[in-house]
Amino acid sequence: MHCLMVSNLSNDNMSVASYDIIVVGGGVIGCAVARKLATHLNVLIIERKQIAAEATALAAGEITMAPSYTDSPSISDYANEFFRDYDGTGQFEFTERPSLELVPRDHEQEARRRVERLATDGVTVSFMEPDAVEADFPRFDLEEFVGVVKHQDTGFVDPYTFTMTLKDDAESRGATILTDTTVTGLRITDERVKGVETSSGTFDAPYVVVAAGWRTERFLRDHVQLPIRPYRTQCVVLDPNEDAGNEFPMGWIPGEHVYFRPEHNGDLLVGGWSFAEDDPEGASKSEDKAFRDHVANLIPRFLRGFERARFVNGWAGVDGATPDTHPIIDAPSDVPDGLVIASGFHGRGVMTAPIAATVVQSLIVGERCPFSRAPFVLSRFDSRSPDFEFHSISAGD
Ligand SMILES: Cc1cc2nc3c(=O)[nH]c(=O)nc-3n(C[C@H](O)[C@H](O)[C@H](O)COP(=O)(O)OP(=O)(O)OC[C@H]3O[C@@H](n4cnc5c(N)ncnc54)[C@H](O)[C@@H]3O)c2cc1C
Repeated sequence: MHCLMVSNLSNDNMSVASYDIIVVGGGVIGCAVARKLATHLNVLIIERKQIAAEATALAAGEITMAPSYTDSPSISDYANEFFRDYDGTGQFEFTERPSLELVPRDHEQEARRRVERLATDGVTVSFMEPDAVEADFPRFDLEEFVGVVKHQDTGFVDPYTFTMTLKDDAESRGATILTDTTVTGLRITDERVKGVETSSGTFDAPYVVVAAGWRTERFLRDHVQLPIRPYRTQCVVLDPNEDAGNEFPMGWIPGEHVYFRPEHNGDLLVGGWSFAEDDPEGASKSEDKAFRDHVANLIPRFLRGFERARFVNGWAGVDGATPDTHPIIDAPSDVPDGLVIASGFHGRGVMTAPIAATVVQSLIVGERCPFSRAPFVLSRFDSRSPDFEFHSISAGD
């Protein structure tokens, strides 16, 4: 195996650079995959813009794997372990914080039954009565709620710093990063991937991992149909009258499709309101006024000291959704050999990045995967149509 330095390449295709693996897309998924594989293999990431240029840098950074994968605790444990170990690498920080799912009256029976079932399965979760919540978290006013489901194994990261740390690690392990270069197509011979065509020439590799975010479905349309559709989701940051405090928890309100987490400077980040997006290229990058108004009304209903909170900023971004909200991380048998898909992260790509890297490694290197890959296979869908009904998640839904 050999690798030509990209800087030595000319655009006239006189020489074709060869790698073991080409990763299409330099978001959090592409960088996590490249870092993992670069230990043993020559990896090239090709990114059409800059690293973390799209959904990744816009993420809220919530790491809520335990409530998101209640049926597969080994998946959430694996990801949480990764974040704990990775904390302190370069500038990267993982802040562990419990998450409170506020339970409205009409969800009480379901929530209590769920907590019982999950606790029996070994998930660190408990039902807290309103008095206990207000004693532990005095900023909460639970008058409108019957209690909370408290999830212990959750936290948050800065998604941009996380991705740049993964990228730096990948490079120090020998990976090459090529930015401002669009992959225009796959090179395929005899039903096997041979490499890619790009805006800067041709590259060879026996494996191509497509981690192109919501664009993956369009990029691969000529080769495989994928049930992935773009959706738009948004965040606002509020500066409360009083600092939210160092021990402020994370949380969400299922019926409102709104989640929140503290910022290190005492502000509160509030995210949610996700909708299928038919014009992802043209979608507004600003939060909707209706979402901002909704947050302004909702937050003081359960948090004290937010009555005159100042709006700091807001934004919106586009990610890829799947029908069951879990990603597709797979090398299906009916696509050309050597093609691996890692897309459809449906609002959880930052937290799922360590899982994606390990699944891709096991698919390519043949290593045993320490958890079941079943939730990620393409064949779990009866229909592969990208025209499915979009379901919003709010952390634990
Ligand atoms: C507002 C918001 C809040 C979110 N909050 C959270 C959260 O709290 N926790 C969480 O885990 N997740 C969250 N997410 C979801 C998360 O951001 C995504 O799931 C994740 O970033 C997906 O990563 P990715 O690498 O698959 O995609 P992307 O970040 O979109 O990266 C794909 C990359 O591929 C590149 N690309 C595409 N096509 C090509 C091509 N042909 N050639 C070369 N490059 C190409 C793109 O330029 C892009 O940089 C949130 C998302 C948004 C928008």
